[in-house]
Amino acid sequence: MLIEIKPADHLIASCVGKPGNRTFYIQAAKEDEILTILCEKFQVKQLAGGIRQFVERLLEKHPNLETSGLLDTLPDLALRRPIDPLFRVGEIGIGYDEESELMVLIAQELGQEVQEDDYQDDPETVKARIWATCSQMLQMADHGEKQVLSGRPICGNCMQPIDSEGHFCPNSNGHK
Ligand SMILES: [Zn+2]
Repeated sequence: MLIEIKPADHLIASCVGKPGNRTFYIQAAKEDEILTILCEKFQVKQLAGGIRQFVERLLEKHPNLETSGLLDTLPDLALRRPIDPLFRVGEIGIGYDEESELMVLIAQELGQEVQEDDYQDDPETVKARIWATCSQMLQMADHGEKQVLSGRPICGNCMQPIDSEGHFCPNSNGHK
């Protein structure tokens, strides 16, 4: 099964929940069609880095590419509800189509990795393709990364995150 949003008029990587217990999502929409996929915090971070590197390389090949962070309209930085994820993402890939000048994000359901030539015929495999401009992708990367970094505070003693319930510090030697 392949779900495609082309082109996305809404694209965001964000989270819900309290620090230490947050759930991350990638969400794209085209008009009323909303696609939400569940992902891990580290995947948002990796994706953000991946998108930036990809756009850098694209700019070497296409110096005139429009990648300014300024979009025509202010991006919608909130997850649209209901948040109803289609699947938990395993692998994420990034690509570019020269003709439409759109970047594509390809997300595959976790645990459904199959051979490249098999997936076309495999109805069990869920893939999502999200097409958006480079600016939209960079916007998602920046905002997603901010969400990742605005998580739990880090303990200065052991550099581990501090949970809202409290923190047992392995470096405290009994001190708080
Ligand atoms: Zn600590």
